[in-house]
Formats: sequence, C-alpha cells, structure tokens
Amino acid sequence: MTESVLSAAQIGELEQIYAGLEREYARVAGVLGLSCQGCPDNCCDSYFLHHSYVEWAYFRLGLSQLPEPRQERVRELAGRYLRESARLIAAGERPQLMCPLNDEGLCQLYSHRLLVCRTHGVPARMRRPDGQVLRFPGCFRCQEIVAGTSAKALPEVDRSAFFHRLARLEREFRQQHRPELPRLRLTIAEMLLQGPPGTEQSV
Ligand code: SF4
Ligand code: SF4
Repeated sequence: MTESVLSAAQIGELEQIYAGLEREYARVAGVLGLSCQGCPDNCCDSYFLHHSYVEWAYFRLGLSQLPEPRQERVRELAGRYLRESARLIAAGERPQLMCPLNDEGLCQLYSHRLLVCRTHGVPARMRRPDGQVLRFPGCFRCQEIVAGTSAKALPEVDRSAFFHRLARLEREFRQQHRPELPRLRLTIAEMLLQGPPGTEQSV
C-alpha cells in the first residue's frame, strides 16, 4: 500500500531540494577527492535526531513502497534499535548503533533517505534567517583530507537556499495538517515505528 500525506507538488519540491544538495555535495567531494568507498567508518551508525515533518512523510512514503516482509524486518530492527539506544542513553552514553535500514552497507531506502544522510560528509555553511552563519566541517575522513588547509581555501556546500526552501515547505505542511505540531526530534527508528506525520497514529 502506498501512503502519502504529501501532495505531488510537495514531493516534487522536496526531491528538487535533495537533488540540488546532492549536486553540490558531488561538486565539493570531487574537488576534495572525498569518497565513502573503502572508508573505515560508516556514518549510518551515527546518532542523529531529525527535525522535519516533510522529510518524515517522504521517508514513510519510501517505506510503504518496500515489500511487506522487508517492512516487517525493518520494523523489527527499529524496535531493537529503540530498546538498545534507550538503554545506552539511560547509562549516559551516546548510542552508536547501526541504522535499521542499513543492510550490509546498503541503504534500503536510499532514494528516500533523510537530508543528513545526503549532506554529512563535506564542509558546508548555512546562513540562518537571523544572519548568523553556521559552519559544518564535514566527516572525519574529510577533515583528515583537508587537515592543514586554510578554511578560506576550502570548497564548501552553501546549504542556505536549500534549507530555506525546506523550511518554507515545512511551514506549509504544518499549516495544512496541524499548526500546533510540536518541534520534531526523532531518530530514524522512531520514524520507522510511528505512522506518517500529520495522521492520528503519529501523535
Ligand atoms: S561520509 Fe565520510 S566518514 Fe562517512 S562513510 Fe563517507 S567518507 Fe566515511
Ligand atoms: S537511512 Fe540509509 S543512509 Fe541514512 S543512516 Fe539509515 S541506512 Fe544510512
């Protein structure tokens, strides 16, 4: 069954935002010579919280298109992830657990993966609406590659325009569903186990 609480226009806009960010990522990674191929790390075990209802809805749409047995398996792994991460957090540790969607190194929802999965590796900056500029150094491998290079000489992705478009989309989605939806802080495992946002089952 295909489920979507996003309109075709919203899906199109999100896919364009993702495509633009990925083009920029590829450009910067190409200049730096950064590739995930053969990397000793795997960022899919990083503990990230996600903040976008629109992304959650799109991610859930991808999940609904997987064969049912695979969805079941993913939900089972997500349940394990949640229990183990809760245990680690209670013990004062930051979880470092493999994402329930990573199957022997391959993302099972690659085309619907979240923004951080698409942007983490390379240096980036973002100008917030209040004018403050945030800088992101890139992943550990990237930082090793650029060590000793002056920050001014480094290529970077400017995320600003993409994130502003995503923020606009997010406002529209909230207005359309529930303006009072709380600020989102969910792991991928939680997104997998809850229904799509904006529906009764997710709140
Ligand atoms: S983003 Fe960086 S640290 Fe993560 S797998 Fe790719 S090269 Fe390795
Ligand atoms: S959604 Fe895919 S790319 Fe993102 S952390 Fe999970 S397995 Fe990795």
